[in-house]
Amino acid sequence: MRRPIIAGNWKMNLMPGQAVDLVEGLWADISGYDAVEVVVCPPCIDLPAVSECMRSGDIRIGLGAQSMHWEESGAFTGEVSPTMLLGLGVTHVIIGHSERRQLFGETDQGVNRKVKSALAHGLVPIMCVGETLKQREAGETEGTVTGQVNCGLFELGPQEISTVVLAYEPIWAIGTGKAATAQDAQAVIGVIRSVLGEQFGEQAAGSVRIQYGGSVKPDNISEIMAMPDIDGALVGGASLKADVFTRLVRFS
Ligand code: PEP
Repeated sequence: MRRPIIAGNWKMNLMPGQAVDLVEGLWADISGYDAVEVVVCPPCIDLPAVSECMRSGDIRIGLGAQSMHWEESGAFTGEVSPTMLLGLGVTHVIIGHSERRQLFGETDQGVNRKVKSALAHGLVPIMCVGETLKQREAGETEGTVTGQVNCGLFELGPQEISTVVLAYEPIWAIGTGKAATAQDAQAVIGVIRSVLGEQFGEQAAGSVRIQYGGSVKPDNISEIMAMPDIDGALVGGASLKADVFTRLVRFS
């Protein structure tokens, strides 16, 4: 059984105090609710305050970063390393979000290095893949996503694969209010799972959790989560308000 995982990507929003308020508000509503694994991914600058509030308040929510470098230290201006994240109690890290790929030039090869580094440091990578509208309209969705999955997971073994969380996020659905239909999301995520099966074997493929992301809201989450291969959601806008995010987490 794959335990669903719902992660909030707060992007470049919320000052540390606001992030702490949001975590505390969320925990007040979901503590004791274990059906879903919950992760929040605040901006890096908020991580120390959120980590401390989770520790002191015994708040058992995963703490994710939105990106990281693959090296532990060095001349990489503006980056954070896996060891720095670990030192802050971070458990998960989003890798290869489409905004990182499109706006900051991240490549599949870089994503692969980051995924390997995250795993080597005991962080759970949430590796994002997804097609542009142009690619979808040109019938290139499967090819694009398959290529991203194969490159991003290059040289990993079946054991490592089981730890990775994948997020299928069609770029045209992110922040637009136009979510993919549950059936369309299932179709692509089903393809991803069969690609994993070919590469890593059926058992490993069956254990990997694959999220859908792109305009997930309380009114479409149940339909999305009812799909056989969808194991959670990566949520942007709707994760920024405790009451709305709570409704996503308690979707069932
Ligand atoms: C995201 O940023 O990963 C995302 C899915 O955003 P939104 O939920 O706002 O579409």
